[in-house]
Amino acid sequence: MGTQDESKNKNAWSKMDDADIRCAMEFAKGYISFLNTAKTERETADYIAAQAKQAGFKDFEAMGTIKPGDKFFMTKNNKVTALIIAGKEPPQKGFNLVVSHIDSPRLDLKAHPLYEADGMALLKTHYYGGIKKYQWVAIPLALHGVVVKKTGEIITVKLGEKEDELGFTITDLLPHLGKDQMDKKMSEAIKGEDLNILVGSRPLTDDEKEPIKRSVLNLLKEEYGIDEDDFVSAEIEAVPAFPAREIGFDRSMVGAYGQDDRVSAYASCRAILDCKAAERTSICLCADKEEIGSAGNTGLQSLIIENIVSQLLHKQNIPDYYTLRKCLESSYALSADVNAAVDPTYPQVFEKMNNSFLGHGVVLTKFTGSRGKYDSNDSNPEFVAKIRSLFDQNRIAWQVGELGKVDIGGGGTVAQYLARYGMEVIDCGVALLSMHSPFEISSKADLYMSYKAYKCFFELNS
Ligand code: MN
Ligand code: MN
Repeated sequence: MGTQDESKNKNAWSKMDDADIRCAMEFAKGYISFLNTAKTERETADYIAAQAKQAGFKDFEAMGTIKPGDKFFMTKNNKVTALIIAGKEPPQKGFNLVVSHIDSPRLDLKAHPLYEADGMALLKTHYYGGIKKYQWVAIPLALHGVVVKKTGEIITVKLGEKEDELGFTITDLLPHLGKDQMDKKMSEAIKGEDLNILVGSRPLTDDEKEPIKRSVLNLLKEEYGIDEDDFVSAEIEAVPAFPAREIGFDRSMVGAYGQDDRVSAYASCRAILDCKAAERTSICLCADKEEIGSAGNTGLQSLIIENIVSQLLHKQNIPDYYTLRKCLESSYALSADVNAAVDPTYPQVFEKMNNSFLGHGVVLTKFTGSRGKYDSNDSNPEFVAKIRSLFDQNRIAWQVGELGKVDIGGGGTVAQYLARYGMEVIDCGVALLSMHSPFEISSKADLYMSYKAYKCFFELNS
């Protein structure tokens, strides 16, 4: 929706009354605090489970038979969470699912990360997801994650977030010596093997060999109980260290790392926490590994959805395979993920009649994919009609979206991994500026509209 000339009357803020605007500004406060608390998939899964418990959701593992109206949560590998409200209708009528992802692009430490060179200690990384590498140098970084000892003991790492705490960074070349570097293509100027994190420079021992590395290892052992070999069984992520903040003289936007896709995770979780039991069972699922193709046993290419639904049926004493298949096939899903907002500085990659704009409401994306809709789900128009009618009835500001011009690029979401069960799926989330950068921008109006959209979707009847 919205060419440049039309953009004025499409703005979500102008459709909101004073009460809506107050709610949107208030909603964003909670969102900013969440972004500053939970920067990784594990931290987000913990945050969601804690919020759910506080709202009276029970741990699924501890539950007996499930009855309509029961509210509960499930977790998997500390990286996936599902919040569920059991509906009144039988499962074969289908469920309403909102599925987001809580992993974001970042730099992961390698198995043998630590080395010393030229009087400094550094950590080698392997980037995760689609990043522009030059954006990750010369900014403050924090290390988040876990180290699992051979005994099974888990050491949690979260270093570099507080102002008075130690921090980390990746160095870049000074412009004076950077001529050759700057003459290169942006994609080649900084290479993957150049993303080495600076972690020490002071020798504490008189070792002749690698005194700086030795001293870092001593500190790791003394302060955290980590041995060099333990990095083999660790999951440590370097993420931008700066906090989320309001952006603009009008404070209408939020700037932060990892809004793709924690913006959808936060809005959908808040929505289900505020929902009453509906006709259909509601599932708010926050998955992992979307940024690397939904791979692995915490990504949506695995059978997470099927396993969740079969566990639900098992606790309702409906063990048959047919009901499982019928339930999945009759379900509705929103693939809750972000889209690219038109950037006024780079109009050449956007098609303004069909791309989404910051602040124009939640985005309905019928299909994603690239090079002729490859690797996408293309929603059925009957379902698109149902959703746009639902949003209009609930006074939700929404717009359509498509990722840039046809031949420029593209991208995928989890929608295709939901559609394979036969359920109806459409992509629905907010539009971001600077997506996949260390500091992504969202609109508070869009954030609030996405919350309202997910909430009425959870309550949608068949
Ligand atoms: Mn995403
Ligand atoms: Mn992404």
